[in-house]
Amino acid sequence: MPHSLFISDLHLSTDQPHGMAAFQQFIATLAPQEPRQRAEALYILGDLFDCWAGDDDLDDPFHAQVIASLRNLAQHGTKVYLLHGNRDLLMGKALADACQATLLSDPALIDLYGTPTLLSHGDMLCTGDTEYQRYRAQVHDADFQQQFLAKPLAERKAYIAQLRSRSMAKKQSKDSAIMDVNDDAVAALLREHGYPRLIHGHTHRPARHEHRVEGHSCERWVLGDWNDKANALRCDSSGITWETIAD
Ligand code: MN
Repeated sequence: MPHSLFISDLHLSTDQPHGMAAFQQFIATLAPQEPRQRAEALYILGDLFDCWAGDDDLDDPFHAQVIASLRNLAQHGTKVYLLHGNRDLLMGKALADACQATLLSDPALIDLYGTPTLLSHGDMLCTGDTEYQRYRAQVHDADFQQQFLAKPLAERKAYIAQLRSRSMAKKQSKDSAIMDVNDDAVAALLREHGYPRLIHGHTHRPARHEHRVEGHSCERWVLGDWNDKANALRCDSSGITWETIAD
């Protein structure tokens, strides 16, 4: 049956070799499948990489392995789509081209076997965390990104590592509710896009929710992170289910 797969928040990094192993196994299982069984598309909804300092880092051996896996999948006939997460916001066209993938904007509205479906990383919905939203607005600014990318790669990596340790320290002190999506922000996004189904990641709280917005019932599926457990959603014309992934 024609179907598509969704994953997010793999946070691939050399510090987490088991995450990389799970990713490579996942791709290796998908790639050689018979055309009738093969996923038509794999959507990666952000934070594929734990850190992406810019497309001039394509040749890093670890990055080259991730790219080779995705390119292998694409060459077997599965379309690969990439959305930016907050960790890999700086993924650009050179990376997408190397993976033979397509970069999507966030959010992206697609027709999924007849059901309008909105894809997002999900961080834009965490509006309770006003400090994060201020930071997000800054790093999404095109001028800011251009200036940042003009710095040497090593300097960018060091800056991101520093930012990371500061944000981890802050997370400890933040209330768990403000780290989740805000219901009003979800409703506003669904309204803006004509009450579609929504799939996102970022919060690392895998679940299926239902939102009633102006009489419309909208499904919201949340992918989990891979540090916890490899997980994926499978969608076909009959709906969405959790994909079974062998350990
Ligand atoms: Mn994220």
